[in-house]
Amino acid sequence: SQSKISAGNVQVYYGDTHAIKDVSIEIRPQSVTAFIGPSGCGKSTFLRCLNRMNDTIASSRVEGRIEIDGENIYDPRVDPVRLRAKVGMVFQKPNPFPKSIYDNVAYGARIHGLARNKAELDDIVASSLQKAGLWEEAKDRLDEPGTGMSGGQQQRLCIARAIAVSPEVILMDEPCSALDPIATAKVEELIDELRENFTIVIVTHSMQQAARVSQRTAFFHLGVLVEEGLTQDIFTNP
Ligand code: ADP
Ligand code: ADP
Repeated sequence: SQSKISAGNVQVYYGDTHAIKDVSIEIRPQSVTAFIGPSGCGKSTFLRCLNRMNDTIASSRVEGRIEIDGENIYDPRVDPVRLRAKVGMVFQKPNPFPKSIYDNVAYGARIHGLARNKAELDDIVASSLQKAGLWEEAKDRLDEPGTGMSGGQQQRLCIARAIAVSPEVILMDEPCSALDPIATAKVEELIDELRENFTIVIVTHSMQQAARVSQRTAFFHLGVLVEEGLTQDIFTNP
């Protein structure tokens, strides 16, 4: 199949709240898919199901089928920590750890044992910062705290942190909502570059942003996926 992510008949409940109603979708590799819809329609909830982050919410119950490369991610043998490296996540509010820029990016690579020595770790940190478009701004201040950077730099640092563990999918939950217009434009440009190497799913409340960054758009309303298709078709008046 040409899908990277395949979801079938997904239901999500928080206690008695039925937040996702029978959602099925195929998400293509090396593309940007935007989830849009009004506040409370379930887009963040569904996004968080794609790396089982919703399991960390005690009241959440997920049913249905979600596969990545044909593999059921809800199989009990799947290690959620490894899954969340393969399917990384970037949040609305940039959330660098209270550590140096270097250690922020090295964090996951250390946990997952991706480097055999300091030189290899240095390479992972440098190439991840490069891919996140942050190397020039960061290279002379790797020992400074990540939290000291500007908001836009912090968000690109969080993207570098996700990239450092060699993910295949990057999930972004309103990654530009806390950023100014210049920083937003930089992150949007970056998303377009990342598409070559990753499968990207971005939640946004902005149709303009969906039109700028995505190839496909999925419209949610009251927990239902009401429309999914090529972004250019969805945003073009007939
Ligand atoms: P969106 O991202 O589109 O704003 P959400 O996925 O955040 O929508 O919310 C979908 C529905 O699930 C809403 O009714 C919301 O109140 C509910 N919900 C979201 N997160 C939680 C949670 N942690 N506990 C209980 N209900 C939640
Ligand atoms: P530390 O205690 O190592 O300084 P934090 O307190 O900042 O780290 O984060 C605690 C845990 O929360 C981390 O071990 C990490 O697994 C998780 N975490 C926080 N933010 C993220 C994120 N953006 N992506 C993935 N995991 C995160």
